[in-house]
Amino acid sequence: MSDFTGKVAVVTGGTRGIGFATARALSEAGATVVLTGRDAETAAVRAKEIGAHGVALDVTDSAAVKDVFKTIAKEHGRIDVLVASAGVLQGGLIGMLTDDHIATTLSTNVAGTIVSVQAAARAMMRKRSGSIVLLGSIVGEEGNAGQAVYAASKAALSAFAKSAAKELGRSGIRVNAVAPGVIQTDLIAEQSDEVLERVKETTALRRIGTADEVAKVITFLAGDDASFVTGQVLGIDGGLVL
Ligand code: NDP
Repeated sequence: MSDFTGKVAVVTGGTRGIGFATARALSEAGATVVLTGRDAETAAVRAKEIGAHGVALDVTDSAAVKDVFKTIAKEHGRIDVLVASAGVLQGGLIGMLTDDHIATTLSTNVAGTIVSVQAAARAMMRKRSGSIVLLGSIVGEEGNAGQAVYAASKAALSAFAKSAAKELGRSGIRVNAVAPGVIQTDLIAEQSDEVLERVKETTALRRIGTADEVAKVITFLAGDDASFVTGQVLGIDGGLVL
């Protein structure tokens, strides 16, 4: 595994699930980690568990995103890694979509990620180096009935990651995304056992993934072991879409 000693990593949505597992993996690999979530106390408690720093940040508040990243860069001297894991999943058939469903999904998953990348890239450009990993999804690549807006938000991130890789490469900044399949976290808590059984049956490895399995791949992409990898969307789905 790459050594992250001396590096500063920011993980948005780091209080739970894939973000928390990634924050822990980066911390274990030597990084100074700042994890964020919407509630200050939760962020502080979760950060303490893994020897990280916890900061309150709602990624739908673009002014707050700019301020928080500026403060992190000032306090820690640099930002080397961004893992943008903050995201929401609301299911809903197209005919039943509400304005709120559409706005929440797009403002969190798409706009929240884009402003986080913008803010992190500002600090990375000064050092002419950095690595960014976005959380796409296999449904962003394949689509999914009942998750049209979520799928669209993740497809947008895929295109954004590739565009950002092209634009920021000259500044020494790599941008990749992962496209997990179904991973056991709070995000899928509302999926019925029947749906999850169907997913397992169609997955080559016949099981749901874990947050730690995704975190390991994100950590690989974030680190120097992946120094010539950029603009990629890497599936982590146990063979769900083979
Ligand atoms: P969880 O629901 O376990 O965690 C979501 C995280 O996002 C929490 O830390 C939450 O923090 C944070 N978050 C949500 N909304 C906001 C917001 N407005 N501002 C800041 N933080 C926010 O989900 P996962 O870990 O499963 O998902 C992480 C990412 O991976 C998401 O982008 C998701 O779309 C993606 N993904 C997940 C898959 C899965 O099967 N689990 C599959 C494919 C992709 P808090 O509540 O403390 O504010």
